[in-house]
Amino acid sequence: MVDTVETPIESLEYRTEVKQLLDILAHSLYTDREIFLRELISNASDALNRIQFEMLTNHDVVDPEAELAVTITVDEDARIITITDTGIGMNRDELVENLGTIAHSGARTFLQNAGQSQSTLEEIIGQFGVGFYSVFMVAEEVTVVSRSFRPQDRAAQWQSTGDSRFTLAEADKSTRGTEIRIRLKEDAAEFASTWRLESIIKRHSDYVSFPIYVKGKEGEPKVANRRTALWRQSPSKVEPAEYEEFYKQLTFDDAAPLLHVHMVADAPANVRSILFVPARRERSSLRLRPEYGLRLYSRKILIQEHNKELLPEYLRFIEGVVDSEDLPLNVSRETVQSNPVTRQLRKALTNRLLKDLKNLAEEDAARYTTFWSEFGVFIKEGVASDYANREALQELLRFHSTHTAADGWTTLKEYIARIQPDQKAIYYILGDSLKSAMHSPHLDYFRKHNIEVIFLTDFIDGYMVSQLREVEGKALQNVDAADLDLPKDAEETAESAAAVAQDAFEKLLTHIKQVLGERVRDVREGKTLVDSPARLVSPEDEYARELQYVRRVIEEGYVAPAKTLEINRRHPVIVNLARLVSEDAANPLIDPAVEQLFDNLQLLDGAYQGSVADMVERIQKLMDAALRH
Ligand code: ADP
Ligand code: MG
Repeated sequence: MVDTVETPIESLEYRTEVKQLLDILAHSLYTDREIFLRELISNASDALNRIQFEMLTNHDVVDPEAELAVTITVDEDARIITITDTGIGMNRDELVENLGTIAHSGARTFLQNAGQSQSTLEEIIGQFGVGFYSVFMVAEEVTVVSRSFRPQDRAAQWQSTGDSRFTLAEADKSTRGTEIRIRLKEDAAEFASTWRLESIIKRHSDYVSFPIYVKGKEGEPKVANRRTALWRQSPSKVEPAEYEEFYKQLTFDDAAPLLHVHMVADAPANVRSILFVPARRERSSLRLRPEYGLRLYSRKILIQEHNKELLPEYLRFIEGVVDSEDLPLNVSRETVQSNPVTRQLRKALTNRLLKDLKNLAEEDAARYTTFWSEFGVFIKEGVASDYANREALQELLRFHSTHTAADGWTTLKEYIARIQPDQKAIYYILGDSLKSAMHSPHLDYFRKHNIEVIFLTDFIDGYMVSQLREVEGKALQNVDAADLDLPKDAEETAESAAAVAQDAFEKLLTHIKQVLGERVRDVREGKTLVDSPARLVSPEDEYARELQYVRRVIEEGYVAPAKTLEINRRHPVIVNLARLVSEDAANPLIDPAVEQLFDNLQLLDGAYQGSVADMVERIQKLMDAALRH
């Protein structure tokens, strides 16, 4: 009987990173194995969303009338679960591409980082899951039979036991979609139970929008998920716990969100939306979030999974769903961007979100502080980049300052309320860390006169203040400026302490210039210094100066322009240094002391780029001299 040609079975090897992942999975004692179902249902749901979207414009598909659904059948005795969907399906090449490699480059990175450690693996799977391959935590053998929606494509079968290889063959499947047959491992027999599967679906996939049918060998299929589009309900009818559940199922995050914003409006544009502020910026240090963006629906049909136009870019940490009936159903992913409705939605969503954040700050300061610690940098980015919403964003800003407790925060409004009668500016200091900024010599004058200075220590701060030049008529002013217009007479600070005499001081300045050469623009007396021996001031205009902080981080090998060194002629270190120079300018301690003085200032400004080894050597030399006495 050889009139049917045996179709050849091809055996292929997984890509290295998949082998690595499978190896970790096979040897894991991971307890939360049930999430494999969440992953497979999520893939089925993606495939259903995609065919639904395809059929908006293309009717030449296999089975155009098929119900969009997931069906799970269980054969308890044979320990077999079959998950079938009527989604977009895959042809042979797509099976190889999708189930033989790891598509996300982020996933490859996480594998490299995870190594073989059990605890990081659990963390990763717990936070994100590892997609399709998680099935091998419970499966002895997996068979995927799929038929693409394209009428000309042939059905194909993929099979693997989760070792290093998989096989491919032609298959007999006339209906559209994908069928995943799982032969469970002996120790995973518990999953061959309709009751168990239904409860897992409730927990992880309740809000999937397509029906998930579960049926045993006998009996009728039963829908196991509730399928509510929560965002289309009236906010007064939704329980807080439901928002939390929905968030967790939407994002696979296991922590409750910090804030939800449920927006229902019909003008100027129809919108039904739930936005979430997650509890943490990094849900796990290794969590994969390859793409940000909101899920965009039009009349419950998913148009776009990661829409980036509905909120400004700096709000990319927001998760959520937006549904608008004003978006034409035939809108393509490309034209969403230019659609005027998108612009209206973006404005409405942004306004509402910023308003709710402000309310949160007023009503629950502790929660807002958590928000600020996690997401403050994004708000700062917004202050710099979103001119239209600058006022609302400004109110959300929080800072540490010389007048707050170490863990306390001030708003700009509060700062302005405390401002001294003759104070013209809002002063700030830029630095790498709070600690170094607090010890900066630039603060001498301000401490003495009890003038408040804001500490700016985030990478983004330089960019922010370069854009935000004033608040309520008060200029923002960096305390390191060379020509500060200070409210009190600067000379006032020059008090009793013995100062270096004029000619000795001039000699010292000349000597310092010689030692530091090109590294300083000028060396001169600093009249605002009290407790510090010296400071570096920037003659650059403010804009260029603030951006140096940003450029240092993003441009490799960036060298900031030289600054002016100001010397405190009353400081004991300077007094002694001047004495040594006058006595014997060739004294071998002088030059290292000058070098160290300069490097100390760079360290405090968060701008030291020299070699640590050189500095340590020099400090040892100075220690040696000090200890001899
Ligand atoms: P992800 O879902 O994050 O892309 P997965 O490992 O879960 O990663 O799935 C890999 C790919 O396999 C999917 O992107 C999809 O292209 C394909 N795929 C998986 N399951 C299905 C399915 N049921 N129908 C169609 N394609 C699928
Ligand atoms: Mg997936």
